[in-house]
Amino acid sequence: MEKITPADIRYADLVGKRFNKRFEGKPEYIRIPSSTEDVIAAVQDAVDSKRRVVVRSGGHCLEGFVSDPTAQVLVDLSLMTGVAYDADKAAFIVESGVTVGEMYRRLFLGWGLVLPAGEHPGIGTGGHILGGAFGFLCREYGLAADYLYGVELVTVDAGGIAKSIIATRETADPHHDLWWAHTGAGGGNFGIVTRYWLRAPEATGNDPFTALPKAPDKITTFRISWDWQAFNETSFAHLVRNFGTWCQQHSQPDTPGSRLFSILFLNHRNIGKLEMKGLATGPGAMLLINEHLTAIAGPIGIAYEQQTEESSWLRFALNPFPELFQPGFDNVQAKIKDAFFRQPFTDRQIATAYQYLTVQAPIGGMLGMATYGGKVNSISPDATASAQRDCIMDVACNTGWITPEGAAPSLEWVRNFYRDLFPDTGGVPVPNAQTDGAMINHPDTDLASPEWNRSGIPWHTLYYKDNYPRLQKIKAKWDPLNIFHHALSIQAG
Ligand SMILES: Cc1cc2nc3c(=O)[nH]c(=O)nc-3n(C[C@H](O)[C@H](O)[C@H](O)COP(=O)(O)OP(=O)(O)OC[C@H]3O[C@@H](n4cnc5c(N)ncnc54)[C@H](O)[C@@H]3O)c2cc1C
Repeated sequence: MEKITPADIRYADLVGKRFNKRFEGKPEYIRIPSSTEDVIAAVQDAVDSKRRVVVRSGGHCLEGFVSDPTAQVLVDLSLMTGVAYDADKAAFIVESGVTVGEMYRRLFLGWGLVLPAGEHPGIGTGGHILGGAFGFLCREYGLAADYLYGVELVTVDAGGIAKSIIATRETADPHHDLWWAHTGAGGGNFGIVTRYWLRAPEATGNDPFTALPKAPDKITTFRISWDWQAFNETSFAHLVRNFGTWCQQHSQPDTPGSRLFSILFLNHRNIGKLEMKGLATGPGAMLLINEHLTAIAGPIGIAYEQQTEESSWLRFALNPFPELFQPGFDNVQAKIKDAFFRQPFTDRQIATAYQYLTVQAPIGGMLGMATYGGKVNSISPDATASAQRDCIMDVACNTGWITPEGAAPSLEWVRNFYRDLFPDTGGVPVPNAQTDGAMINHPDTDLASPEWNRSGIPWHTLYYKDNYPRLQKIKAKWDPLNIFHHALSIQAG
């Protein structure tokens, strides 16, 4: 396997394969392995030559963990794209270079199945599934990581030898802890995942057609939008409160509302519109959507435009809400600050949101509020490494910019906004009765900064809660030389 250096025409393309243009790396060379053996060789060579190695699958990291100027060797898994049923393990193999969209396509066309996972089809399964992975179907089916049966990983032992290990959820498996770590610890911590095995925990027998959930027979989507100018602080508060109340009433595992997922896009007033988009499945989908809108939008009394559409699961999954990924999306520099909520926003938080979303500033940004819970909340916090299991919403303050002048005002706005949402807990969503930390798939290095996290609660408690000490032991055992690390990686304990 070659070393792809800056002199190679493929180098610029591979270095450019990243969503967040805020970060840029310049590795000495890039490897594009085709097999686990290739990955072992690439890692061994990097370790022997004392070069810092990082791994990339889909390139959708929100922080600079891969595009890092200190990384000397980039292992890019773009060529490892197999999807197949493995009768020996009665589970589907998905190689780490497969994107979420390609996984949806292969599982649907091959078997009419689905693995519930993330929203953007370009995300790589390699860096995604091991971070928990929520998405459009998580309230109905749970997180992608809840279906993890096994993982193949290239690790480096205390003697500096790279080798591959398979770890499964079988309790008798001596590597069971390594499997558990990959159900929510996030990427770049223990080694390079080369493939996943996926199977529903309740599946029995050896029939591929029942190994994962059947894909929904159809998807009904809705979009509504209001003119921002029609809102004042009172009607804005009413809208946010209604959304929170709906989430509070419909996030138990067995509620019929778990067949509905929606996001309230509280855009900055500069953008002109407030929006809500979502989907529901099953024969009563339209009824669920109507009830949802009646509860949230109806009482506001402000006219809105509504669109509803039906499509197959696959057609939707490969191009969901195309207007979210418009031209310019490929050049964006972004900052996303995530928070889990167990209870709706308080009046004070709503007032803060109104203030930041209406302030005159040269920025584009929003507060996104996504429904959460449902089946996700049917699993205990320590059964997997995804610890947040009784939340009703996942919320994110987002901003993006294209030109360099956009960086300072956008970052200042999004950081201050997030901090001021949590004034009593040091500017972060500490685990308490209302909030429950943040999602590692949406990493935010500010949570490890004393300037932005004044809570006294360390960043790792925000992401992993009580699961962190167990993750630290697994790190010490499987990556004793700390070969795989980044700004928010697990510290051996
Ligand atoms: C537009 C967009 C939409 C998103 N939507 C969702 C969503 O709906 N739900 C959700 O849960 N998340 C979502 N995310 C977050 C996404 O899940 C994470 O950013 C995820 O880590 C991306 O994986 P990747 O392989 O594409 O990224 P990469 O940039 O390749 O890697 C991300 C991290 O994982 C590590 N990594 C990558 N491959 C491997 C591997 N094979 N073995 C070990 N470590 C590895 C990297 O070193 C890095 O630390 C979204 C992100 C973006 C940018």
